[in-house]
Amino acid sequence: MFEGLAGPALGVWVLDPRELLITNALGFPRCGDRRLKFLLESVADLRAQLRGLGSELLVRLGEPESVLPKLMRETRANRLRAVEEPGTEERAVEKRLRRAFAEDASLGEFDLLPVEALFEMDDDPRAAARELPEVFSKWRRKAEKHLEFALPDAMPTSGRLGGWPVEVKARDLPTLTSLGRAEPAYDPRGVLPFVGGESAGLQRLRQWVFAGDHLRGYKETRNGMLGEAYSSKFSPWLALGCLSPRLVVQETLRYESERTANDSTYWLRFELLWREFFRLYLLKHGAKLFRREGPADRPLDYANRPQHFEAWTSGGTGVPMVDANLRELAATGFMSNRGRQNVASFLAKNLDVDWRWGARWFESQLLDYDVASNWGNWAYAAGVGADPRGFRGFDVIGQGKRYDEQGAYVRHWLSDESSPNGRHPHEPWKDGGPNPIVDVRRSLADAEARWGQAAPGH
Ligand code: FAD
Repeated sequence: MFEGLAGPALGVWVLDPRELLITNALGFPRCGDRRLKFLLESVADLRAQLRGLGSELLVRLGEPESVLPKLMRETRANRLRAVEEPGTEERAVEKRLRRAFAEDASLGEFDLLPVEALFEMDDDPRAAARELPEVFSKWRRKAEKHLEFALPDAMPTSGRLGGWPVEVKARDLPTLTSLGRAEPAYDPRGVLPFVGGESAGLQRLRQWVFAGDHLRGYKETRNGMLGEAYSSKFSPWLALGCLSPRLVVQETLRYESERTANDSTYWLRFELLWREFFRLYLLKHGAKLFRREGPADRPLDYANRPQHFEAWTSGGTGVPMVDANLRELAATGFMSNRGRQNVASFLAKNLDVDWRWGARWFESQLLDYDVASNWGNWAYAAGVGADPRGFRGFDVIGQGKRYDEQGAYVRHWLSDESSPNGRHPHEPWKDGGPNPIVDVRRSLADAEARWGQAAPGH
């Protein structure tokens, strides 16, 4: 971002109400309080860092395409620089800004750097996206064979960005209260007390990889659901750019040279390739990723019973593996990958609810919400995305028994009246508890039949 700049430079953060402050068509905030809090903390940390470099982070509320041209005049800057994002809404804003700069030469230059790629690429990532295979493993094999990991950009040195010649009001950072939101309660049952910002992200990186030495066993622990150590929990910081995936890769390579190299140390890079794949996948498919039929063009219909969706979001379906995960999400803003796969499959397949409702709920609740990873994974889970195989629906009861054998996870989150305390923590109805809101096995078989009838392109 700062490369090639002779300085001085100012940072700008524009809070776009369309993205962060509106209520969506399903009636909940597009960005929930917890995610907003994490974002505001991240911006505060960025401001502190820019000030440490002698610069400033200007903060404005509004639509970037109107705010930024005004700010160019106010600051008398001659160049605006931004990093391109793969999301369709972000790209539309970039397009409008580009037009504004093209129509008014007095605004100066608008310099859009290409989407940050994990690998060194000769071409713009857009070209790579056009040629992206539909199947992850095909792309991964090619990338691992032919491409080199890119190094993270160097940090600017202290004082280099300072000395802006015009006085400009930086303005206070908004707070949850000033934005009409409430401070979310902290739940000590969560995996981590997540704090936004690069400083906390770097601390987690050092702690998990080196101090805790957790990387060496990651492949064996990554399907866990309880505790801070089973997976890296880097995702909230990665999603906001507080941690660079390039830096994470470099740290895994350093760990391999200083400590040990094994399947686990490779596997974290493998998972980051999924993130990279979905970013390219969104660049490739654009608005198609947000349609019900998805990029696979499979015309599935859904019953969309509101009471089913309500039971799902509030963790009241009666299936412990599903409910515990959704309660964790609502209480903390985080859910493990194992949990996400199960609850996504359960919503779209067993409950027969449009997968995009679930993607919207995740968008609202997840601290690590990332447009490409979220919508790409949801489309995949719903069978309308990048999955090469036939119908895939999770046996959520079997998954609970396999990944939470003793029921410790479901007991951790379902500690109230629905507590699965009997001999069958994943099937409490066998101990006299209530039945789930759908017959789990039959509803999955019905979903498979619907899936088979909805052939792509019809
Ligand atoms: P680790 O297991 O430690 O993995 C390291 C990193 O690899 C992650 O931080 C993430 O950046 C990347 N990664 C791992 N798995 C995936 C994956 N399947 N897809 C993309 N990247 C991956 N991840 C998000 O970052 N944001 C989202 O909005 C998001 N929504 C999801 C929705 C669904 C329905 C599903 C099934 C998965 C979603 N994921 C999302 C992917 C994955 O669940 C999380 O990245 C992971 O659980 C975060 O925990 P971690 O950082 O401890 O992961």
